[in-house]
Amino acid sequence: MLNQSSTWVPLVILKLKSILENLEKRGDITKVEIHTEEVIIHPWSYDSINKWPKQCLTGKKQSPININSKMVTKKYFPAFEFNITKYSQTGIIQNNGHTVNVAFSHPETVIINGGGLPGVNYRLENFNFHWGSEHTVDQERLPLELHFVLYETKYAGLKNALENNGVVVFSVLVQTCLDCYAQNSWSTIEKQISEIVYPGLGWVPLPNEIRINEFLPLNLGNFYRYEGSLTTPNCNEGIVWTVFRDTICIPPNQLQAITRIQGNDGANLNTTFRPVQPLNGRQVTYQ
Ligand SMILES: [Zn+2]
Repeated sequence: MLNQSSTWVPLVILKLKSILENLEKRGDITKVEIHTEEVIIHPWSYDSINKWPKQCLTGKKQSPININSKMVTKKYFPAFEFNITKYSQTGIIQNNGHTVNVAFSHPETVIINGGGLPGVNYRLENFNFHWGSEHTVDQERLPLELHFVLYETKYAGLKNALENNGVVVFSVLVQTCLDCYAQNSWSTIEKQISEIVYPGLGWVPLPNEIRINEFLPLNLGNFYRYEGSLTTPNCNEGIVWTVFRDTICIPPNQLQAITRIQGNDGANLNTTFRPVQPLNGRQVTYQ
């Protein structure tokens, strides 16, 4: 019997296929299989790193890395300049199924230059959390790492900057310490974690203002520098990394709060770090 829907069903499947393939290209999912009667999608996860998209598996300049502090090359870099016109500002927070992302409401008020970065002015896209740390120094993995994703202001946005090697990432390693007190901005994030335990709820406003300097070490003059990649699919290369030498400290209960979130499969995200990648002859410099 000729079914009335027989002509438009293939069209719907074709459209769905192209939507899913776009998601695959963006790195939101790792593989799409279309069969006549079923569509199988494979969201990327830390449990299936060997199924991440191609460049993650074949790239030669991947991140994170282990930094061997005895093998770094000393180099002089000019100081970083943080041109911040609004120190304290509201923000939004999101569980994307892989990690926690935080963005400022007025990122255009935080412009960073200097530090020997290849471009002139950089603005902050967002910052995200990894537990345990992705970068290790002398094989030591700390409880948490923050990534500040910045792109050169001459580009239209992060995507455009990624296509033109205009993205840099600042890494801040975080320790826990029993005798340190909770900074207000961290408490603000901790308070809102309960609203984003489950992924897929989108961006949620933070209840109080946060200050960027509470997420950075006091000393920004000593850091490791190397060329690597994004640490999540699609693992785009051409990213200049700055891993600050000095760590920051948070109380252990704040770490516990942040690591409560669940992934796309409904299970707790116990860890959110990619294993360290081979250097393949890359040089790590240090100031
Ligand atoms: Zn990250």
